[in-house]
Amino acid sequence: MRTAPRTATRITPGLAGLPAEVDVVVVGLGVTGAGVALDAVSRGLSVLAVDAHDLAFGTSRFSSKLVHGGLRYLASGQVGIAHESAVERGILMETTAPHLTRPLPSIIPLSAGVSRPMGTLAGAGLLGGDLLRRAAGTSGDTLPRPRRLSAAETRRIAPPLRTDGLRGAYLGWDGQLEDDARLVTTIARTAARRGAHVRTHARVVAATGREVRLRDELTGATATVATRTVVNAAGVWAGDLVDDVRLRPSRGTHLVLRPETLPGLDVAVFAPIPGETNRFVLVLPQPDGQFYVGLTDEPADGPVPDVAQPTEVEIGFLLDVVAASFARPLRRADVVGAFAGLRPLLDSGPGEDDSTADLSRKHAVLTSSGGVVTIVGGKLTTYRRMAEDAVDAAVAQAGLTAGPCVTATLPLAGAAPRAELADLAAKAAHPGTARLIRRYGADADLVLAAAREATGWTEADLLAPLDDGLATVAAELVFGVTHEGAADVADLLDRRTRIGLVPADRARAVPAAEKVLAVVQESPLQR
Ligand SMILES: Cc1cc2nc3c(=O)[nH]c(=O)nc-3n(C[C@H](O)[C@H](O)[C@H](O)COP(=O)(O)OP(=O)(O)OC[C@H]3O[C@@H](n4cnc5c(N)ncnc54)[C@H](O)[C@@H]3O)c2cc1C
Repeated sequence: MRTAPRTATRITPGLAGLPAEVDVVVVGLGVTGAGVALDAVSRGLSVLAVDAHDLAFGTSRFSSKLVHGGLRYLASGQVGIAHESAVERGILMETTAPHLTRPLPSIIPLSAGVSRPMGTLAGAGLLGGDLLRRAAGTSGDTLPRPRRLSAAETRRIAPPLRTDGLRGAYLGWDGQLEDDARLVTTIARTAARRGAHVRTHARVVAATGREVRLRDELTGATATVATRTVVNAAGVWAGDLVDDVRLRPSRGTHLVLRPETLPGLDVAVFAPIPGETNRFVLVLPQPDGQFYVGLTDEPADGPVPDVAQPTEVEIGFLLDVVAASFARPLRRADVVGAFAGLRPLLDSGPGEDDSTADLSRKHAVLTSSGGVVTIVGGKLTTYRRMAEDAVDAAVAQAGLTAGPCVTATLPLAGAAPRAELADLAAKAAHPGTARLIRRYGADADLVLAAAREATGWTEADLLAPLDDGLATVAAELVFGVTHEGAADVADLLDRRTRIGLVPADRARAVPAAEKVLAVVQESPLQR
């Protein structure tokens, strides 16, 4: 065990200043790789963690942004996975990331399309979910108990619902993220703060258990780094680096709707899929007021694309299912964006468990003949546990001396009790400050101070929305460049912020992102 370097407190793009030798190289900076980097550095190991593109470039930015309690695994009898999910949800919401998570109320409307047996089943499911919460030790203040709503209460809580034949609803609670890419960025920044070298735009082109060859994707420069062990957390691309891991991705699509499409709706709605007894399409209200509607599960055979594309068939399916639950007709023109992610499902071979939906949530740690430790599968909610298992395996395989895993009690950068942050946000003199508190927690001051220092702009300029109808403020973009390894417009608009999920908004924000990049990259402080 070496002493972790204290110099690497910011995430930077490319290969300049790379260490010649480390204990652990982590390949991939989705939620899994970022979690592995944090786990390893907090055990006292020296760490280099890289992504070929950017933080959260892969599946991790295209999730439903839920911190699941594992209800559906309970329904299929997978009690162990369900319990693990519920425990990890509690850790995120109560200890490590209260600033990036919130309790999300969801309703299952008992509408004409939901038969009485289906309603009873759904209600029993919510009660089962509450048992899971209690077994995991998560407080009822964090996630209140489910209950039955009358038809009048349902109409009040979800005004845009279709009301003919509405018998009431079940109300339950689960966890929701501020944003999945923001979680990944925060985990990676926490690792960097503790001394991990975290690099974007740095591709691993070859790896053995002892060495990695890297290419700087911005300059084309190459480098070799010696290491005691390598953890491959490359998601659906994990099989490109090692011969003995095969994946069978499946695609999940979401739609994006504007706030005015379903006015007054701030609970999630489960819309029943016709002809299915216990499958729903979810309408998920987001912190900025938009709605995401998902989700599909389609096999995605063939070469793995950099970015998966939703099909018109998937978009039409999701729209048709949810439209049946609302009074106002929903049309294709209401869909202002759509995004798809690939589930990194492990192909267990013919004759093994063929159910892709179940496989995706189990995680697996595999050590290949060349000594590379691969971690795949699982889900966003359980990233911490996946990272712990991967680092345990890497430490054992390489014979490293490392401390115990501490991440269950290690708050992520900016973490503070939710009530404390809400109080700060309520007292904020400027709405832009309240927004920074929502997205960076107790680090909001740091974000603003760093942005002021790098640009010399006034607070008013840094806290102003980028454009009409775009809530993102310039300070977020500046901090993305100074501290979070963003190198281009796409890093800023598609991952540090999520403006890019709506193409029309993205086009309007490009000039602001270009301006920030030019100003910060010219700043003497950046060189
Ligand atoms: C549609 C959908 C919805 C989901 N919703 C939820 C949800 O609501 N809640 C939940 O808990 N889970 C959810 N999941 C599951 C969860 O999103 C994934 O399990 C998780 O994000 C996978 O993260 P990862 O880090 O393993 O992979 P990724 O996020 O794909 O990261 C892999 C990274 O490796 C990098 N990389 C690849 N090759 C190299 C290389 N050679 N060198 C360097 N870097 C490389 C890539 O650029 C990429 O950034 C969902 C999944 C899907 C598909």
